[in-house]
Amino acid sequence: MRTQVGIVGAGPAGLTLGRLLERAGIESVVLEDRTREYVEHRIRAGVLEQGTVDLLREAKVADRLDHEGIVHSGIHLQFDGERHRVPLADLAGDRSIVIYGQTEVVKDLIAARLESGPPLLFETPVESVDPERGVIHHAGGELECDVIAGCDGFHGVCRSGIPEGVLTVFEREFPFGWLGILAQVAPSIDELVYTHHPRGFALLSLRSAELSRYYVQCDPDESADDWSDDAIWEELRVRTALDGWRLEEGPILEKGVTGMRSFVAEPMQHGRLYLVGDAAHIVPPTGAKGLNLAVADARTLAEALIDWYGGNGDDHLRSYSQKCLRRVWRAEQFSYWMTTMLHKLSDDAFEQRLQLSQLRYVTSSRAAATSLAENYVGLTTMA
Ligand SMILES: Cc1cc2nc3c(=O)[nH]c(=O)nc-3n(C[C@H](O)[C@H](O)[C@H](O)COP(=O)(O)OP(=O)(O)OC[C@H]3O[C@@H](n4cnc5c(N)ncnc54)[C@H](O)[C@@H]3O)c2cc1C
Repeated sequence: MRTQVGIVGAGPAGLTLGRLLERAGIESVVLEDRTREYVEHRIRAGVLEQGTVDLLREAKVADRLDHEGIVHSGIHLQFDGERHRVPLADLAGDRSIVIYGQTEVVKDLIAARLESGPPLLFETPVESVDPERGVIHHAGGELECDVIAGCDGFHGVCRSGIPEGVLTVFEREFPFGWLGILAQVAPSIDELVYTHHPRGFALLSLRSAELSRYYVQCDPDESADDWSDDAIWEELRVRTALDGWRLEEGPILEKGVTGMRSFVAEPMQHGRLYLVGDAAHIVPPTGAKGLNLAVADARTLAEALIDWYGGNGDDHLRSYSQKCLRRVWRAEQFSYWMTTMLHKLSDDAFEQRLQLSQLRYVTSSRAAATSLAENYVGLTTMA
């Protein structure tokens, strides 16, 4: 089998890339390890930057997003018994975020691809890739390609297809994780609340008018099964308590623990292989950047391939890694900053005082709040 672009992985990166190539008349085959059902129900991110929404609209996969997505023009930071609103849109040139689950983005992209026809092969695990020859070895045989897009996430096989000594890896593991729940209850507040508390971080988020997504900082090795529903609600109540406000509770539909890591592998290209999204980089979820970075990489690669197939040379393909990494490192810094400002890092009272001072500064200085807002909605200068 032969194609122009072989895409490994049907997550947000691979599906977005496939859609952009399809619209430009470039052939691709997407190979995905899991079933459609599994991929469509893997609950992860839910905050879309303005640039991600704009791209999905251009790619004509945003009809449902435009109906069901919830536009937020602010977030709240809570600490020391106070809750402060950061007016994102006012501070960041009218740019805002949209709440729309990653599951829904993936469903829309899969539906669009299956309707229009280019191959999307589920339950087809890729075993290895040859970046020099442009060959993908998968369970059903070999796929020869001009270009391989490694969109197979952090645990995929594409990154390890790059010969030893080529990649430099930068990594930070955090000594805590997030216990996340999806609860069948209307959100208790209409925008996200990031909470700093002596017992640890908590985040109040949502997926729809009927579904709330809440998180509490926990040990990274804990099992979600060790937490009873009552214990989770109690912890959320304590950490987010505020005079005159009440956290509404409901049935917990799903719970899980996610570890927190910063990771970047440089460069993001070797031979005919281009790494896209989590295959090349991971951010802790505090800045809501993972999904947005994956989509931005896909756009950068699609634009470079459109140029190349259009006979306009390979300058953009050559600069793919450099261009992506500039945005990736900005997101790494922002996510690291949000993570270390909001989580309980230790029992060190000095450190906690510094965090509180930083939070007070961000919520009282327009310049500091603007910096947070610009990064949170996505910097246009990094587009
Ligand atoms: C538990 C969890 C919670 C998260 N929460 C948030 C959040 O709240 N906010 C946020 O912004 N980000 C969050 N993220 C990060 C965000 O979900 C990712 O950044 C995003 O999914 C990256 O998309 P991707 O397409 O690069 O990779 P993935 O979504 O990981 O997709 C990779 C795809 O490749 C497939 N694959 C893997 N190996 C192979 C193989 N050998 N052959 C074929 N296919 C293969 C996988 O099955 C998968 O479908 C979270 C991540 C996790 C793991």
